[in-house]
Amino acid sequence: MSTIPASEEHRVVDQVPKQLYIGGEWRDGAKGRLSVEDPATGETLTDVADASVEDAKAALDAAVEAAPEWSRHPPRERGEILRRAFETIIARADQLALLMTLEMGKPIAESSAEVAYGAEFLRWFSEQAVRIDGRYAVAANGQGRLLTMKQPVGPSLLITPWNFPLAMGTRKIGPALAAGCPVVVKPAQQTPLSMLMLARILEESGLPGGVLNLISASSSSETMGPLIADPRLRKLSFTGSTEVGTTLMAQASQNLLRLSMELGGNAPFIVFDDADIDAAVQGALIAKMRNIGEACTAANRFHVDARVMQPFAAKLADKMGAMKVGRGTEAGVEVGPLIDGRQRHKVAALVDDAVGRGARALLGGHARAGAGYFFDPTVLGDVPAEATLLREEIFGPVAPVRSFGDEDEAIAAANDTQYGLVAYVYTSDLKRALRVVERLETGMVGLNQGMVSNAAAPFGGIKQSGFGREGGPEGIDEYLETKYVAISL
Ligand code: NAP
Repeated sequence: MSTIPASEEHRVVDQVPKQLYIGGEWRDGAKGRLSVEDPATGETLTDVADASVEDAKAALDAAVEAAPEWSRHPPRERGEILRRAFETIIARADQLALLMTLEMGKPIAESSAEVAYGAEFLRWFSEQAVRIDGRYAVAANGQGRLLTMKQPVGPSLLITPWNFPLAMGTRKIGPALAAGCPVVVKPAQQTPLSMLMLARILEESGLPGGVLNLISASSSSETMGPLIADPRLRKLSFTGSTEVGTTLMAQASQNLLRLSMELGGNAPFIVFDDADIDAAVQGALIAKMRNIGEACTAANRFHVDARVMQPFAAKLADKMGAMKVGRGTEAGVEVGPLIDGRQRHKVAALVDDAVGRGARALLGGHARAGAGYFFDPTVLGDVPAEATLLREEIFGPVAPVRSFGDEDEAIAAANDTQYGLVAYVYTSDLKRALRVVERLETGMVGLNQGMVSNAAAPFGGIKQSGFGREGGPEGIDEYLETKYVAISL
């Protein structure tokens, strides 16, 4: 792959509609413009509309108005709109991947993978739209009949983070639209461009005006607060940090909103001495370095059997050290910049804290000088239990490695966190695999693989990683209510 010419970069940015999308119309935001930065250069890429509270209310008004028709819209047609959007995304995958790299920083190959993954939710839920069913049963006493039906929850607010600018949107939009719920979408202010393109694609795919409304805003609390407090809103689906999720949950309690909370993670990656070490290193690279480590599913802690600790850490450092760091549009780059200076500062502080407490840097350990927010791939050995990065989400290309003595110790270490999103386990012993998987306190487990994301599977966490599931047959239930009808015979 060769480096992409600047003219092509300008072309894909120019193509993005940069206004708010409300009630089927593109319009300016009352607060002016909001700039979007390229994290690889620190330079402004473009700007988009900045919504006011009134704009946000207008978006909810439009969703509320669209709700009755959209809930009765034939499921097949709802599915076909999603299917057309899927086809369009695939047809424009290269442009969408470039756009994503420019606003978020990840290498083009990874952006392409996210475009494919993100599109898959639209295909999956286009197929689920026609499988919303109910139940008919004879009452236990034989006298009456029980009927249950599933109905759309209603107008839903979808708030997404910057780390997967497209897929975190489609994972919510796909099931919501398939279920018959109109939505207001608010992407992260750092990465609104991919979602704006998605709104345009859904518009082109025949989505009626008002069913999807998009708000970009410089103040998320100011614009979202009134919507969450509005009794016409029926559902909030949030992906982001546990800290913000907790605040939103408190706000949502006033109206007892239906909630889905996809929050932070602190994934353990466990390697037993019977594992295929080369396969474990390969899986570790994916679990750690995908998205520059800026993934809720990123392996945050490596727990390795003391007997295989040395070869595992050495091979991991070797492979991570060979990865090319640079702007995601450049040929051969495998590690892009972090999203901003604040995130890079946080990663550096976590590394300094660990080293200060006695960890050994086997690789890297430093921010890169120059433009952009680059941080060198880093492997830390002998990480002491008190190191802060074992408890906090690192969100960067840093792999702390610790050893354990036996299975119980490994499981206790893995579960020693407030989070519970995903864990990774490498072992070739089937009985041990099942024993360990059952005892891990997480919503998902990667067994001998370093990635779990799949549109056909229920993605989600427990403990402070939140609740609710996205993807799989479970994903659409987040946007459906069950109504029970008691029938007298
Ligand atoms: P964040 O700071 O929590 O922000 C997420 C979204 O919430 C953004 O759109 C943000 O808008 C908005 N927001 C922030 N404060 C708000 C408020 N008071 N009211 C309403 N909206 C508000 O998270 P982030 O830094 O973007 O993303 C990283 C986090 O997301 C990590 O913790 C990661 O683990 C988590 N994540 C979880 C999953 C999962 O599926 N479990 C997936 C991906 C990411 P602004 O852009 O305006 O701040």
